[in-house]
Amino acid sequence: MKTQELEAASRKLVVIGGGVAGSTLARSLQFHADVTLIDPKEYFEIPWAKLRAMVEPSFGKRSVINHGEYLTNGRVVTSSAVNITETEVSTADGQLIPYDFLVIATGHTYPVPERRTERLNQFKAENQKINSAGSILIVGGGPTGVELAGEIAVDFPDKKVTLVHNGSRLLEFIGPKAANKTLHWLASKKVEVILEQRVNLDSVSEESKTYHTSEGEIINADCYFLCTGTPPGSAWLKETVLKKNLDSRGSLMVDENLRVKGRKNIFAIGDITDIPEIKQGFLAQKHAAVAAKNLKLLMTGGNESKMAIYKRGSAIAIVSLGRKDAVAQFPFTTISGRIPGWIKSGDLFVGSTRKGMGLDPHVVDD
Ligand SMILES: Cc1cc2nc3c(=O)[nH]c(=O)nc-3n(C[C@H](O)[C@H](O)[C@H](O)COP(=O)(O)OP(=O)(O)OC[C@H]3O[C@@H](n4cnc5c(N)ncnc54)[C@H](O)[C@@H]3O)c2cc1C
Repeated sequence: MKTQELEAASRKLVVIGGGVAGSTLARSLQFHADVTLIDPKEYFEIPWAKLRAMVEPSFGKRSVINHGEYLTNGRVVTSSAVNITETEVSTADGQLIPYDFLVIATGHTYPVPERRTERLNQFKAENQKINSAGSILIVGGGPTGVELAGEIAVDFPDKKVTLVHNGSRLLEFIGPKAANKTLHWLASKKVEVILEQRVNLDSVSEESKTYHTSEGEIINADCYFLCTGTPPGSAWLKETVLKKNLDSRGSLMVDENLRVKGRKNIFAIGDITDIPEIKQGFLAQKHAAVAAKNLKLLMTGGNESKMAIYKRGSAIAIVSLGRKDAVAQFPFTTISGRIPGWIKSGDLFVGSTRKGMGLDPHVVDD
């Protein structure tokens, strides 16, 4: 190793958030810096596989991956970051972790258990809930609600599925063509879609099996799943040195090199950034690659002017509809059916994501 590389290897790099962006970055720099990954859970979870794991719990064994499996040369702190100063991060469990370089990748917050085994048990419990219900209410018509409706409609065709969405169309994060094609597909699977209504969540209880909408409709269902959006994982930054770097939506403002604006040694990547593009995991991975390149350069004393520039991703998104179909939006066209389904819906990119993390795509030691 050259002297500069040796020096870089002793630089303290702290990555906050072990989702798609943070895990990718931590893995790629683990042999180039002294890496610490902070995440409230002991595992990385492939987010777009969780709905399949609800209808087929064993699917979760490949999509829920302990951080230690891919981060073999780094330290994992299983806690939430609660504050940062110019030099260190404090965590909920009382640790102070010093950094030379910091990467914030706290994406979106959604409550999940700390332990992998608990998460896998959660999938089993959700599956049990679906299995024992005759009718199911899904609240929310974004990607999570739509993909869950698709999974249930295909694997449990005899269940009565109702999806209620407060917007005027499904999948508002992509174009209306994709929304229409999705609506048709769901109708063909006998999923009832109710638009422009809210389910009164205050009155929600699985015991009564009766749900009221904002327009006074009553929906009967044996159980329900809440698939409404999740907030950005930035509430904890509001009292920190980065409070002025948050925009009105709670996103972290970054420059073209993915550094937090005005900061020399703090980067932000993934869904937490204010980059005007669809929030997607494959783009979060691209952010991680650009930030990793820039961190390597800075840690080896390279010239800042040589830093890589992140180019905004194009409006591509694929939403799976059960195991074989999907709807896909590409820059010039939107298609649905078996072709996009062939790209995503069979394995939901789990094998390729595992491979990208240096893991066996198929086998899980359990
Ligand atoms: C149903 C669904 C389907 C999707 N399908 C696709 C798809 O097919 N392709 C695709 O590219 N994208 C897809 N996406 C989008 C993709 O999942 C996100 O863009 C991606 O997860 C963003 O990655 P991230 O690392 O920025 O954030 P996240 O994956 O949200 O990770 C954030 C991490 O930060 C941690 N964290 C939060 N707060 C703190 C804190 N204070 N301290 C420490 N850690 C913290 C969390 O525990 C989590 O591990 C889909 C999303 C959904 C919901």
